[in-house]
Amino acid sequence: MSQRIARVATISMHTSPLDQPGTGDAGGMNVYIVEVAKRLAARGIDVDIFTRATSRALPPITELAPGVLVRNIVAGPFEELDKTELPGRLCDFTSGVLRTEAAYEPGHYDVVHSHYWLSGQPAWVARQRWGVPMVHSMHTLAKVKNTSLADDDTPEPAERVLGEEQVVESADLLLANTMDEAGQLVDLYGADPSRVETVSPGVDLSTFRPGSAALARKRLDLPPDAHVLLFVGRIQPLKAPDVLLRAVARMLAGNRSLRGRLVVAVVGGPSGWARSRPEELQRLAAHLGIADVVRFEPPCPQPELAEWYRAADVTVVPSRSESFGLVAVESQACGTPVVAAAAGGLRTAVRHAESGVLIDGHDPADYAEVLWRLLARPRLRARLSRGAVRHAATFGWDSTVERLLSVYTGAMDVKVTRSVVSA
Ligand code: UDP
Repeated sequence: MSQRIARVATISMHTSPLDQPGTGDAGGMNVYIVEVAKRLAARGIDVDIFTRATSRALPPITELAPGVLVRNIVAGPFEELDKTELPGRLCDFTSGVLRTEAAYEPGHYDVVHSHYWLSGQPAWVARQRWGVPMVHSMHTLAKVKNTSLADDDTPEPAERVLGEEQVVESADLLLANTMDEAGQLVDLYGADPSRVETVSPGVDLSTFRPGSAALARKRLDLPPDAHVLLFVGRIQPLKAPDVLLRAVARMLAGNRSLRGRLVVAVVGGPSGWARSRPEELQRLAAHLGIADVVRFEPPCPQPELAEWYRAADVTVVPSRSESFGLVAVESQACGTPVVAAAAGGLRTAVRHAESGVLIDGHDPADYAEVLWRLLARPRLRARLSRGAVRHAATFGWDSTVERLLSVYTGAMDVKVTRSVVSA
């Protein structure tokens, strides 16, 4: 089936696959693009990833892995631009993408796969110019995000909603991470159900695997006998790390003997508007009187992240909205149960009462109660840990790629007429 596809153009305008995930705009989408590209290349399919150059020091092309090139397109000033400024750079970016392809024979790429709404517009122009099908992954949806905002968060602008509607209209196939997201594309954006495919993201089961918690704690300089709770990811209101801190403050107030025996590790960096207030979470910890309990760590590469998961008793993912939640699956793959909000993709990523606990809403009291129950009951944790490994094993990037290839092949059946006037 896959032999018809030789080259894929992947478009990720607003964030580069070369960036470290876990801070700024780099997160699960970056991981998705890299993992998929490497596996497509391993099957003999060349992947070019088009992204916006964020530094003058970047060469026009970086080889990410054999068969995977990152094309750093100059569009606007090199420094990191705020997402709100990026729509103004779409023209430059699009012409950079078209110029690259123009250096090849016509028909160089077989399919264009764009990620996040900002990449949809250049992908649509490329689709028309190159006469190839366009597959689009939204990753997050503004209409969904806007219904789950924290009190102090800023709604996604109307411009993005409109942009997403245009992408839904113009893509040949839309990819959703979960059935839930597929339903949202149909119900909220009016997508044609026959053009929506669900492909689950994966987890790198060779990096994220169970291992010795004692060894991991030693490496990370964590006390061997403490309870360890873990939060991993971009620090922004939507991820709700504040819910974890408030829950911990409650637990400590109710169980004084816990102080000195509990560590809360927060691994990740500020993202979204939290970038203008990078110390906000530290301030909250101080305000709640738990600064001595919380350890803040900068984002780290995935092999080190696996050590954090192994060292933890429970990973907490209290997100207000989550299109999938790779962190939850990675933690489970390492044998660490997850306490998560029953929101979006987390309902797929975590199996309630089997691999972790899903909590309705974001009341810190509910989280405190569940976390305390888990910390106090090692046998329950051990059972969930076994369930977590089993559940995570059902997600692998190889099956993601297998499904993607059938989607690409299906998309290639769509007749796209080359147009020379669209750019
Ligand atoms: N991540 C990482 N290092 C860090 C923190 C996070 O590599 O220090 C990665 C993590 O392994 C996961 C991704 O960032 O694959 C976050 O994905 P998720 O779907 O949980 O959240 P998103 O960022 O997409 O909202």
